[in-house]
Amino acid sequence: MVLKVKCPVCGREVRWTDEFPYRPFCSRRCRLIDFGGWADGSNVISESLTKDEENSTADDMIPGGTIQRPRANA
Ligand SMILES: [Zn+2]
Repeated sequence: MVLKVKCPVCGREVRWTDEFPYRPFCSRRCRLIDFGGWADGSNVISESLTKDEENSTADDMIPGGTIQRPRANA
């Protein structure tokens, strides 16, 4: 019997064997995300995010909110 866990990042099933060298993460990318990839690996992890999440995060980082953006006024 093989122990199975779920990837803490994406929820994929991961078998606790050498088949998954990055366990409990399903892949190297998921491990990087959990290890702080949010700070310096945004380009890598953005592939696994939905567009909605990506956009909302970007908007939150703009001082003053999105309504004040020049593009919206034009
Ligand atoms: Zn994963």
